[in-house]
Amino acid sequence: MRFIDSHCHLDFKEFDDDRAQCIANAQALGVTHCVVPGVSLAQSNKLLTFTKQYPTTYIGAGLHPYFLEQHQEQHIDELGDLIAANRQTLVAVGECGLDRSVGELEKQQRLFEAHIALANESQLPLIVHHRQSHDLIAAAFKRCPPKFGGVIHAFSGSQQVAESYIKAGFKLGVGGTITYPRAQKTQQALRHVGVEHLLLETDAPSMPLCGYQGRRNTPERLPKVFLALAELLQRQDYHALSEQLYLNCLAFLRK
Ligand SMILES: [Zn+2]
Repeated sequence: MRFIDSHCHLDFKEFDDDRAQCIANAQALGVTHCVVPGVSLAQSNKLLTFTKQYPTTYIGAGLHPYFLEQHQEQHIDELGDLIAANRQTLVAVGECGLDRSVGELEKQQRLFEAHIALANESQLPLIVHHRQSHDLIAAAFKRCPPKFGGVIHAFSGSQQVAESYIKAGFKLGVGGTITYPRAQKTQQALRHVGVEHLLLETDAPSMPLCGYQGRRNTPERLPKVFLALAELLQRQDYHALSEQLYLNCLAFLRK
């Protein structure tokens, strides 16, 4: 079986001591590639070198709401320049999005809609972060509709919310969250939307699987996310299912 980790912060300092080993271990388990999102202007710049050093990574460029205080008004223009100059190297605009736990929602909304405009201009998909913000994202999509879809990273929510994202051209990122018993609503939604809309991800070093709390998450756990999804969907044809998910990710990456 082969897999792509569609969301993995492999460039974060948590991997400084053993990054190459982590990638090699994941590859030995069938994880052929990882998508590494941009989170700030400076880090998105660094990813351009990072992907040359680690050629099995695909990279995005974006300003993540977690790092909101680092993002200055001119960064969105500079991000636009970076994207225009490196269009062939990038696979997505993001990680961007809206997060109610962060605050400064007006600044977040301005940045998020600017990311959508950049994705539309550069004909790239979006990597969207959400937290308690489906309503705000829906409003942003209405004001500034994304033309090239993307992924709702670490999707959690109802079937109705899932279907509205799919209608807007988005795939749903499935990670360790589904391994927790409390994720029933999300599990229910994923069971009903159709496998063709799903992408596997770890969000490493965050989002540990149930049983691994407090430990660093790594792309080596992606096959475990896959098995949890297979169980959720009551699928035993692992080879066909993993291949479908792999092709979904290639479609998202336009590879
Ligand atoms: Zn992320």
